[in-house]
Amino acid sequence: MKAARLEAIGSLFLRDVTTPDPGPDDLLVRVEACGVCGTDRHLLAGEFPSTPPVTLGHEFAGIVEAVGGAVVHFRPGMRITGDPNIHCGRCAQCRRGRINLCENLRAIGIHRDGGFADYVIVPQRQAYELPLTLPAEHGAFCEPLACCLHGVDLAEIRAGSSVAVLGGGVIGLLTVQLARLAGATTVVLVTRQAVRRTLAGTLGATASVDPAAGDVVDQVAGRNGIVPGGVDVVIECAGVAETVRQAPKLARAGGTVVILGVLPQGETVPIEPFDLLFREIRLLGSFINPSTHARAATLVAEGAIKVEPLISRRIGLAEVPDAIANPPRAGEVKVLVMPGR
Ligand code: NAP
Ligand code: ZN
Repeated sequence: MKAARLEAIGSLFLRDVTTPDPGPDDLLVRVEACGVCGTDRHLLAGEFPSTPPVTLGHEFAGIVEAVGGAVVHFRPGMRITGDPNIHCGRCAQCRRGRINLCENLRAIGIHRDGGFADYVIVPQRQAYELPLTLPAEHGAFCEPLACCLHGVDLAEIRAGSSVAVLGGGVIGLLTVQLARLAGATTVVLVTRQAVRRTLAGTLGATASVDPAAGDVVDQVAGRNGIVPGGVDVVIECAGVAETVRQAPKLARAGGTVVILGVLPQGETVPIEPFDLLFREIRLLGSFINPSTHARAATLVAEGAIKVEPLISRRIGLAEVPDAIANPPRAGEVKVLVMPGR
C-alpha cells in the first residue's frame, strides 16, 4: 500500500509499504479521508516531537476491512472514526481521570503509523462507529471537533452566553458552531480574512470583527462595542501572541478565557496579573480531546455541525508531501486527503 512517511525531520515522502496486520485488539481500516492539520506541518519542521519513521495523519475515518480475534462490536464493513490519542491507563494522571495529560500519551499519526495511507491500524478502544450513510469526508472532522468540544466544555458556555472566538481557521469555525449549540446567543468571530468572516455568518456567528478595522478590544468590548463590558467567554483559536494578549481584555469581569491555539514552545505573551485578579478572569488551557471523541462522532453523524463548507480541497496521497511542506493557500480551511482517489 502507499503511505506518506515522515522519515526524518524535514523528509516526508510517499512510499510503498507492507499493508499492516491487525493485532488481536486492532481494526484494519481502509482510510476514506484524513484531514491535513497544522500539526502535520509542525511535525515535518520538527517543531512538535514525533518518532520517525512514521506515517502521518491523525484526523482519519474509514471502513473496517478486518478485525483481530479479541475485537468485539466492530465488524468488517463498518465505518469508523479513530481517536488518535492513546493514553496508557496506568500513570498517575490516567488514574486521576486526566487521560489527555497521560505521561505516556502516544498518538496515531505522530508516534505510530497514521491515516495518510491506504490502510491504518486502529486499536478497538480508539474506534467510534459512524453511519455508512454519512459522506465519507465528514468523518475526518471528528478529531478536530473533539478538541474544540473539550474547550467549549471547559468554558462552561450556557444558554444565553456571549462568546468571542479568536481565529477563523477550522478550529475557530467549529468552535463557533459548538458555542451556538451549547446555547450561546451572541457569538463573535474575530479573524482577518473576509471570506472566513462571511462563512462564519452562515455557520452561526452573530457578528464578526476585522482586526484591521480598528482596535479589537474596542470593537468587541468597548463602550460602543458588540458586547459593551466584554463577553462571558473568550476562546482563543488562532494560536498567535496577539490574540492571546487580547483574550483577557475581551472578557467581562468574572468571565472565562480558554486557550485552544498552540503557540511555539518558549514563546511568551504579556498578561496583566492585576487585571486577572481584579476582574477574576478564569484563564484555562485546553489540550486535545479527553473523552470527547464519542460526542464529536455523534455531532458529525447527526449533521449537527456543518463540515461541508469547511472543505477547501480534496487531494490524493501523492499530493500529501507538497500539501504539508507548503503553507495553507489563502482562504483555505481544511484540506482532505482521500487515498481512494
Ligand atoms: P489555522 O487554520 O492556522 O487557523 C488560525 C487562524 O487564526 C488563521 O487561519 C488566521 O485566519 C487567524 N488569525 C491569525 N492571526 C490572527 C489575528 N491576529 N487575529 C485574528 N485571527 C488571526 O489553524 P487551525 O487548524 O484552525 O488551528 C487553530 C489553532 O488551534 C492552532 O494553533 C492549532 O495548533 C491549535 N489546535 C489546538 C488543539 C488543542 O488540542 N488545543 C487541537 C487542534 C488544533 P485569518 O487569516 O482569517 O486571520
Ligand atoms: Zn497514562
